[in-house]
Amino acid sequence: MADTFDRAGCLVGGEWLVPSGPVLEVIDPYSETAVGQVVDAGPQIVDDAVRSAAAAHAGWRETDVTERAALLERTADLLARDGETIAAIVSREMGMPISLARVTQAQLPADVLRATARIARDFSWSHEIDGATLVRRGSGVIAAITPWNMPVHQIVAKVSAALAAGSTVVLKASEMTPYDANALAALFLEAGCPPGVFNVVTGTGAVTGSALVGHPLLAHVSFTGSVVAGRTVASLAAQTLTRCTLELGGKSPAVVLPDADLETALAGVVASGLVNSGQACNATTRLLLPDALAADAADVLTAAVAQHTLGDPADPGTRQGPLVSARQRDRVLDYISEAVAAGGHLLTGTGKPSEASSTGFFVDPTILTGLPEDARAIREEIFGPVIAVQTYTDVDDAVRIANDCAYGLSAEVWSSDVDRARAVAGRLDVGQVKINGVRTRNRPTVPFGGVKDSGYGRELGHLGIEEFTDVTAVMS
Ligand code: NAD
Repeated sequence: MADTFDRAGCLVGGEWLVPSGPVLEVIDPYSETAVGQVVDAGPQIVDDAVRSAAAAHAGWRETDVTERAALLERTADLLARDGETIAAIVSREMGMPISLARVTQAQLPADVLRATARIARDFSWSHEIDGATLVRRGSGVIAAITPWNMPVHQIVAKVSAALAAGSTVVLKASEMTPYDANALAALFLEAGCPPGVFNVVTGTGAVTGSALVGHPLLAHVSFTGSVVAGRTVASLAAQTLTRCTLELGGKSPAVVLPDADLETALAGVVASGLVNSGQACNATTRLLLPDALAADAADVLTAAVAQHTLGDPADPGTRQGPLVSARQRDRVLDYISEAVAAGGHLLTGTGKPSEASSTGFFVDPTILTGLPEDARAIREEIFGPVIAVQTYTDVDDAVRIANDCAYGLSAEVWSSDVDRARAVAGRLDVGQVKINGVRTRNRPTVPFGGVKDSGYGRELGHLGIEEFTDVTAVMS
């Protein structure tokens, strides 16, 4: 694996280059030591990468879709072959427990590649309407900008759809997780991806990301990350009238209806709220309980959290690893202290750095109760292992509380009656609702994305491919 961590270069026109520029260290958040370095690539190499993608686009969009789909399938096969290595890279770069990394960063991306290939073959590339033929073709160069928290999945969601559409890509992955991006790009090359169709530039948002988003030859910016950066990206892209897809943050409610099996529901909500140390955009970080069940829930929640073993991410028994950085740990602890000062009660957790491990940026799983509705821990995305419990009087009140949020990415509803749960789901202002513990990763073709501050546009499935196409109406 040593050479894997040495190779944090850029991929431009099918060639690996190590550009000049300031060098950043990539820190393993468990050992707190550097695993390697990455170059903050400047505007010149970004320009080279975009021009290489633009030059490759004309040929790539004329390929038969079966050829593009076959590339995705061959890449999926290679990802299955190297899944253990890729999962280990992600685990080391950002502290994801290896058992979670295997499922979400190797199996899921392979599933998404295959599903996208299947959907692309059946996609409506042209259809008739009122005497016109609507023809869809790949729109051009896609800038794919991705975060560190589910890195391979987030890259594959964008790249698979763009390549299937007949568009070409310049990827700027998170500067905190450059190695999995390069390992994945190497698999695309091995699978036969033509030079220039998939390019990678490394570096920070401020330097490399801004140079990319402001480039006049882009057709589309597909961004996943924070609301703050999303706003900057959208306004920069507006200068060149470049379309955006924005997959931003979340503060997802889990509504437990009075008829739900409490133990099953709370175990499920704790698992999805604490997944990846709570560093998931759709983590269920607000638990909405009926007033009458709040007292019974306390013991059940405490027992569910006790199952959550903290430790070395490389240990298959670990359920929660460290947070990605010391900065992120401190930010999470600040939210907890402020919540306690605002009248919140710590049902679990201490509000101090975890003592579960002698190294690593750990925060204990934290359940907060008794917070006022305007507390920051209720309203803002913390991106850590923190779940806030809110109580409601009746279903209308539950829907009001769930929707009283700047975000609108995802929600869960739990009930013994699926029709009742569906009726509540249909009233929630979010992009995706999961009933009784179904996981996003169980449905790799279902569109993912948000409303309100969670952004706009969709990834995965046929909507994900459509994002990266343009339509021409041909009338005769
Ligand atoms: P971030 O916004 O700091 O960075 C995301 C990416 O954008 C990184 O590659 C970064 O270098 C780049 N970037 C930052 N500023 C930029 C700029 N001005 N121009 C161009 N690129 C820029 O986010 P993060 O800390 O890496 O990730 C965590 C955030 O991502 C959370 O808010 C989380 O909710 C969100 N997220 C959303 C989804 C989703 O699908 N909705 C999925 C995962 C994570």
